[in-house]
Amino acid sequence: MRTPIIAGNWKMNKTVPETIELVRGLRGALLGISGVEVVLCPPFVSLWVAKNALGQSGFGLGAQNMHWEDKGAFTGEISPMMIKEICQYVILGHSERRQYFGETDESVNRKAKAALTHGLKPIVCVGESLAQYEAGQTDYVVSTQVRGGLAGLTAEQMANVAIAYEPIWAIGTGRAATAEGANAVVARSIRGPLTELFGEVVAHATRVQYGGSVTPANIIEFMSQPDLDGGLVGGASLKTTDFAEIVKLTAQAKG
Ligand code: PEP
Repeated sequence: MRTPIIAGNWKMNKTVPETIELVRGLRGALLGISGVEVVLCPPFVSLWVAKNALGQSGFGLGAQNMHWEDKGAFTGEISPMMIKEICQYVILGHSERRQYFGETDESVNRKAKAALTHGLKPIVCVGESLAQYEAGQTDYVVSTQVRGGLAGLTAEQMANVAIAYEPIWAIGTGRAATAEGANAVVARSIRGPLTELFGEVVAHATRVQYGGSVTPANIIEFMSQPDLDGGLVGGASLKTTDFAEIVKLTAQAKG
C-alpha cells in the first residue's frame, strides 16, 4: 500500500505573514484528516515560520529547490545542511527550474543524491513540454528524465523518493491531462524504467504524484487511477479551501 501524498508547491508566492495565515487556515480545515500525507512547500524565507506554525499538525514541510553542496561560495543558494534542520522534503527538477534556471537531469541527480545523504526526501519532477507531447515524445522524454535523475541511487534510497509527473503543458494552464492519459504515462514511462533500474518491488512501492492544474473538481478522477498516488499542486495550494478540499477528496478516493 502506498500512502497518498499531496504536496503544495507555493512557488514564489506568500509573504511571511501570509504564510502563517495559510498554514493556520490549513491546520484548522484539515483537523483530524488521516490517510494522506500533506506536505507544504513555501519559499525558503518562510520555511522557519511555517515550521513553527505547523506545530503538531503532522504536515510535512518541503523546500522548492536546493544546491547539492553542503556549504561554500554559491551566492544565493541554499544547502541540504540548512534545509534538513527545518524540512523533511525537497522538490527537485521542477519544470520551472529546468526551463528558467538551466537545471538538467545531471544537476537533479546530484541534488537527489545530496538530499538523500542528508536524510531529506526528494520529490523529483519529470514531464514533457507541449512540443514534445505533440511530437509523440512523451515516453522518451519522461523515461529519460527518470533514468537520468535517479541514476546511481540504490533500491534502499528509493524508499525515500517520490516522483511527480507534471506535463509542462498542464502546469498553471488550467488544461490538466486526462486521468487515464497521466496514469498510462506513469505506468509505462515511470514505473517501467523504475523496474529496469531497481526491480519490480521498488517500481511498485514508489509513490508517483500527478501535477498540472489539479483542482478540487478533478482530483477524484486522478486519484481513482491505480498508478497515481497523490498530487503536486501549484495554484490551488495557495487557497485554504481548495487545498484542504483536494486533501479530503484524496483521502476519500484512496481510502
Ligand atoms: C506545479 O507548480 O507543480 C503545478 C502543478 O502547478 P499548477 O497546479 O498551478 O498547475
